[in-house]
Amino acid sequence: MSTSTKGPVIIITGTPGTGKTTHAQLLVEESPVPLRHINVGQWAKERNLYESYDEEWQSHTVDEDRLLDELEPLVAEGGLVLDWHTCELFPERWADLVVVLRCDHTRLWERLEKRDYALKKIQENNEAEIMEVVLDEARSSYAPEIVVELKSEGTEDLENNVARIVQWIDVWKKDRGSSN
Ligand code: ADP
Repeated sequence: MSTSTKGPVIIITGTPGTGKTTHAQLLVEESPVPLRHINVGQWAKERNLYESYDEEWQSHTVDEDRLLDELEPLVAEGGLVLDWHTCELFPERWADLVVVLRCDHTRLWERLEKRDYALKKIQENNEAEIMEVVLDEARSSYAPEIVVELKSEGTEDLENNVARIVQWIDVWKKDRGSSN
């Protein structure tokens, strides 16, 4: 229960292709406290936490209960970056910071095309980005003061965003250690 020594739990979310994994990887390198990056989609796949595969949408449906059960002990340890395209299923108490990455839709379209996504999946994701689906989800699931919307269009954005999160971690660390 030594919350003062645990690292923060940071959720990085956003439409697929907005740069979550790229941000999480750089953040782990630059963080002043040790952080473990979990690419939740990949992690769930490796552990067979999928219930079914949706042919039409070419995506897996995750077994949410099992996913949460398996993540819980890691969250309790702290020092975690959860990288996923959705965030509302994570309990509010888990998150210290929720970063929502945003990207201009034409640029996002190009990124998803490079991934060889089917046209329908590109359209669906593009529309979700325009309609701010993930941002709305984050705002309705967490306290407004821990939700941060950041633009992720170029490398400068990436560097600035990670620097901002590092600054946030520094403050977070100071706040936690202020009792000694
Ligand atoms: P996500 O994890 O959200 O699906 P990725 O981190 O895999 O997205 O990024 C998708 C692609 O877009 C990658 O090729 C990555 O290099 C590029 N990308 C993402 N964010 C940026 C950025 N801010 N500047 C330049 N390229 C970016």
